[in-house]
Amino acid sequence: MKPVIPLRLLLASAAALLAGSAFAAPTITRLNPPSALFSYGDTEPPYISRFVPGQRFDLQATIQADPGTTITSAVFKVNGKTVAASPAASALTAIGGDKFSATVRGFSDSQSGVKTLSVRVTQSNGLQATATGNYEVVEIERGGRKAKNIIWLIGDGMGIAHRTAARIVSQGVALGKSVDDLAMDTLPVTGIVTTHSLNSIVTDSAPGAHCYSTGNKANNGQEGVFPDDTSDKWDNPRIEHMGSYLARTQDKWLGIITTADVEDATPAAFAASTQDRGAGTGICDMYLDEAVANHNLHVLMGGGRKWFLPSSTAGSARVGNTTSSGADYVVPADVQAGWSVPAGAVDPSRDLIADFQGAGFYYAPDNTGLNAMPANTKKLLGLFNSGHMDVSLDKIQNRRGGGAAPGSLIATYPDQPMLDEMTNKALAVLGKNRDGFVLMIEGASIDKQAHNMDTERWILEAIEFDRAIDRCIEFQKANPDTLIIVTADHECAGINIIGGSLLTNAQLVNNAATGGGTVASMRTSVVGTYDNAKFPAYDIATDGFPVTMDVDHKMLIGYAASADRYEDWLTNATYNQSTAVRDSTSGFFVAGQATSAGVQAAVHTASDIPLSAGGCGSAAFTGVFDNTDAYFKAMQAAIGGTNDNPNREQCHPRRGHGHGHW
Ligand SMILES: [Zn+2]
Repeated sequence: MKPVIPLRLLLASAAALLAGSAFAAPTITRLNPPSALFSYGDTEPPYISRFVPGQRFDLQATIQADPGTTITSAVFKVNGKTVAASPAASALTAIGGDKFSATVRGFSDSQSGVKTLSVRVTQSNGLQATATGNYEVVEIERGGRKAKNIIWLIGDGMGIAHRTAARIVSQGVALGKSVDDLAMDTLPVTGIVTTHSLNSIVTDSAPGAHCYSTGNKANNGQEGVFPDDTSDKWDNPRIEHMGSYLARTQDKWLGIITTADVEDATPAAFAASTQDRGAGTGICDMYLDEAVANHNLHVLMGGGRKWFLPSSTAGSARVGNTTSSGADYVVPADVQAGWSVPAGAVDPSRDLIADFQGAGFYYAPDNTGLNAMPANTKKLLGLFNSGHMDVSLDKIQNRRGGGAAPGSLIATYPDQPMLDEMTNKALAVLGKNRDGFVLMIEGASIDKQAHNMDTERWILEAIEFDRAIDRCIEFQKANPDTLIIVTADHECAGINIIGGSLLTNAQLVNNAATGGGTVASMRTSVVGTYDNAKFPAYDIATDGFPVTMDVDHKMLIGYAASADRYEDWLTNATYNQSTAVRDSTSGFFVAGQATSAGVQAAVHTASDIPLSAGGCGSAAFTGVFDNTDAYFKAMQAAIGGTNDNPNREQCHPRRGHGHGHW
């Protein structure tokens, strides 16, 4: 059992009693990195904050001083030895309300083990206080083959049912067996991942991806940082990302591709450092200013062009401050010094595409441009939409000559690539680095369309994502020293497969056209459970996607983490229509039990998520483990090497294949 009474609070009140109310000691209210030892006096594992040897992170304490006093010094010690502030910068800053923050930037610890971190602070009246926490530097075992390339495939929001649904639709089930496998099903190793964030059992996508890129927990909405006590989006204690660490120590390159806006939480968690996942202007500037320089960022693709256009250009979303939604960035002097990064600037008129091109990037505005990429391209920027890219159902409909769905941006951006096409180009560029790469590929709208409870659209997103996985598996076969990890950041919408339709599509269409409306006509007469679900069958076109999702006796989906909605079981012609309106005249009302911050959308759940892995170092990804563990398993393979492959030869580059060197 954990101690119920926070020991730290008991000690603090004892100290205050001894000192007397007129001369109360300062109180240390936060100590970063976060630890159970500081928060509730627990010295036992699991240790909340862990790092690989040499991984950089900031130390920070928040101190509540007595009214009318200041904090004059803060001394951090690790295992009793004073942390030298130099060469890292340190700062003691008044943050308002008699609060101070004491920070050591860019600290690192190369010795494995559990370390005690303490901070002793002195108030201007001479009174002192001490707080203690801990962190662990994990041991990296040496030997075996190193994973040269690491590919993270994150199906945002993809729980077990999203995978099953994509398999039933795209591969079929007959006589009780799947006719064929998803690409992700063919990966040899499977694990179950827990997804909780630092401040909630239910994570959002920022800490849900930050855990894979840093090995640590973050609060919801935050990426690349630990929480602090200021409203500044850019001054939080930082943790070094995998891309930066492996660029610094192994000259690896970093690639980030997504079907979302490139500033969205999952892609940004692999390169940006901010407590606000919504700071689009600053995050996109950071990609060039920090990630190209410090992470060897060589590939960035997705939507989000609005952040890259100067404010004078129509469609620009660049923001001229550091505080509001979509903010630009400026980092404090101690961050600049401690992390060797530029200051940043409020520069709404910046032409960020031109600046990327000036840094040697080939820019593709659409799929035609992507296909025209010169073979010798070593840096690639692709921005295919103003915000999030359109989803596969609408992209495919347009490619088949079906035109632009209402509500979509297909008419404005008719030539958007599919995720497997982006993946091919990313691998072509990154595969040129003899020292390997880290590539994050996100299927973003599995989540976004699950939030929207748009069944057909998220199923096609999962199929699109699986086609990108297939490209990576092909690459891995030619480059055996590649580790592939397929997982999610969290489950979205409490999705499950509840059965199959008792009706033909013509009957469903007729029900909807005649007002549907009632539970009797739209639920009881439609939803076939158990035996009556049978085996819904979908024809797959040569483009790899279903000819139609509106087949007779189609698969039916339910949502356990839903908001109010209406259901008529038919494909929604309009993209992203409000669920307060959608199908309200054709369907029946389904009462939800959750809403997301006033938005009528399904929410994330705390359910565990599946993980599949293959290639060099993949054997470690088995069992039930925390999301931060996945980072350390991958880093073990990249830094220390691995002998525990499903197939011992998997890490050995084969002569005449790929770009391996040995
Ligand atoms: Zn989500």
